[in-house]
Amino acid sequence: MSRIFRVASAVAAIVAVAACSQTEKSASTNAPAMQSLVDQYATVRLTSDLSHLSDNDKQVVRLLIEAVQQMDPIFWEETYGSESDALALANGDEATRRYIEINFGPWDRLRDNEPFVAGVGPKPAGANQYPKDMTKEEFEAAAASNPDLKSLYTLVRRADDGSLTTVPYHVAFAEEHQAAAAKLREAAKLSSDPDFATYLELRADALQNDEYQASDFAWMDMKNNPIDVVIGPIETYEDQLFGYKAGHEGYVLIKDQDWSARLARFAAFLPDLQKGLPVDPQYKAETPGTDADLNAYDVVYYAGEANTGGKTIAINLPNDEEVQLEKGTRRLELENAIRAKFDKIMVPIADALVADDQLSHVGFDAFFQNTMFHEVAHGLGIKNTLDGKGTVREALKENASALEEEKADVVGLYMIKQLYDRGELTGGSIEDNYTTFLAGLFRSVRFGAADAHGKANMITFNFLRDRGAFARDDATGKYSVDYAAMGDAVNALAATILKLQGDGDYAGVSQLMAEKGVVPADLQAELDKLDGLGIPRDIVFEQGESVLFPED
Ligand SMILES: [Zn+2]
Repeated sequence: MSRIFRVASAVAAIVAVAACSQTEKSASTNAPAMQSLVDQYATVRLTSDLSHLSDNDKQVVRLLIEAVQQMDPIFWEETYGSESDALALANGDEATRRYIEINFGPWDRLRDNEPFVAGVGPKPAGANQYPKDMTKEEFEAAAASNPDLKSLYTLVRRADDGSLTTVPYHVAFAEEHQAAAAKLREAAKLSSDPDFATYLELRADALQNDEYQASDFAWMDMKNNPIDVVIGPIETYEDQLFGYKAGHEGYVLIKDQDWSARLARFAAFLPDLQKGLPVDPQYKAETPGTDADLNAYDVVYYAGEANTGGKTIAINLPNDEEVQLEKGTRRLELENAIRAKFDKIMVPIADALVADDQLSHVGFDAFFQNTMFHEVAHGLGIKNTLDGKGTVREALKENASALEEEKADVVGLYMIKQLYDRGELTGGSIEDNYTTFLAGLFRSVRFGAADAHGKANMITFNFLRDRGAFARDDATGKYSVDYAAMGDAVNALAATILKLQGDGDYAGVSQLMAEKGVVPADLQAELDKLDGLGIPRDIVFEQGESVLFPED
């Protein structure tokens, strides 16, 4: 970006602020210039090798892209209201407009939804999925007689008399759902894989009646499809008020057949790895599923909620618990997106913070393995508390998911070490995984430990560092891993977490978060330097048919 453009947009931002009230003026003049916010996102072209696909399957890919594009206007409605109203807030400033697009609204998803347009108030906790003037109490009272208010697949709106009512998604978004369904049905006719065609048909039906379970079952039943698509109302992250409402999103995916075969091989080791977990026997008595369904894909399109703020690099679906109980879940590793984050973010962070003589141990293969085994590691460990009173998730409440993510990180490293020791992993070394993991921790805690996941990453960092797994050279400000100490510390942390989980020890987890979930001052100083280096925080995409099929 040229310097002249930066200056121009800074001037535009000041002009925009001048039009607003006094109180907002002082808040906004401190805000970073809008272009620097946009520049936090490195741009990546989403492509994939499609040469193994038949002409019909290539046409399927095109149709799926057109189908998931229908999720964009829907998510705008769910999160903000209309896209054009949101973009008008930019007042003609190009950088502001772009940042509103990236965030699907005027709130910064990388900064805890802080408003970045002067005059815009805080983001409503329920986004636009509930009336903005509704209180939790009003909702609970109304939901007692109308359970549909809590449905995943309804918008909550006010009726003419002011009472709360619901609009089913397939009605609220009839036009988009029908358009997407038509594309899915067209794709079903062309698909080379009959099971995929069945899924597409059922998913099209689901979009027209809000009944997704049959399509989720069909999705789990298909195994050999070279193409995949995730489409519809899926995750409930956008509903910070109650977590009831699913947001619309879409991914179009090309399966990496080689990687997927390699991944499938490791599933056989899971029972053994569970038995070998470095914790007392009662905490590893459960039997892990051996039918872990883990595959690698190139993602060629992100739509709706998936294309906002920080981008997902691994998907674990479906969320329907009945389908999970019967079929398990499928984990999808988004290889090209992982590589993009590695190249654009991890490599420069490692350059800045990892000791020069260990830099060669930071590599994409190790990063991909760490990501992949994180997913597998969710299947190991303990799901129900030892007192027999319920699940770990229930006992640990709002800290449950952060601790489970932390567990997956360290148990994933434990698994990789085991597989190297057995000669099942070759081509790299555990040193690569450890060093790359450390660089990954810097990436994760770079933006502080404000939320539960940030705290969990800090606990990992502090716990490992306290045990000598790595140390900072005060002269250079760079960190070196002590590989032997790292192995021991990873095992000790795994044992600590598994025990907290098995004991359902809510107080213990809270204490750990309070004590170790903080960024040490010397680390904060190093992390602050990263912003000065202009290292991106996340990625945005050039994507679509013209990117994927440049011969058009
Ligand atoms: Zn995870």
